[in-house]
Amino acid sequence: MPHSLVPLPYPHDALEPFIDARTMEIHHGKHHQAYVNNLNAALEKTPRLFEVPLDRLLAELDSLVPEESRLAVRNHGGGVLNHNLFWKSMKPNGGGAPTGMAADAINGAFGSFEKFKELFDEAGMKRFGSGWVWLVADAGNTLKVTSTANQDSPLTVGQRPLLGNDVWEHAYYLKYQNRRNEYLAAWWNVVNWDEVNRRLRG
Ligand code: MN
Repeated sequence: MPHSLVPLPYPHDALEPFIDARTMEIHHGKHHQAYVNNLNAALEKTPRLFEVPLDRLLAELDSLVPEESRLAVRNHGGGVLNHNLFWKSMKPNGGGAPTGMAADAINGAFGSFEKFKELFDEAGMKRFGSGWVWLVADAGNTLKVTSTANQDSPLTVGQRPLLGNDVWEHAYYLKYQNRRNEYLAAWWNVVNWDEVNRRLRG
């Protein structure tokens, strides 16, 4: 079964004014769609891998995917999975302080929500070029702030992504141009803590 583009869980303009509708249209309809198309093209060479769930494919990249298509699956499979998570990590009227388990876990790991945000934004600013900033749970279930380059998934290094922000320029350039710091700050207004709680329980 080929992979397909997941629908956005809200209209393109739902995250205005923090993320503009045009960016959402291009990001979902063009960039995310391209990762889906390129992942399917890469898997054509090994059709049995169409049956493997994408999270497993990325967690076991070296053992499951033949070397000739490994980089394509890492890049485009990561692109598909990261964006699937990204759309769900946001919602209209989101933001505010974390709730429930997420609040306890973040306060426990980082001392406070403010400190966590500071570490997350710093990691987002330090990512040179394109990539992602993450809240992950490591193999011992310790929460960490990390960053990956390009479309690398935390799953490939044994970490479970709980929340992720896309710091590729395509995620913010139309509205924020070179001001990644402003995008990172605005993004906290659309964070979906319900989804983080769902992933923590998961
Ligand atoms: Mn993106």
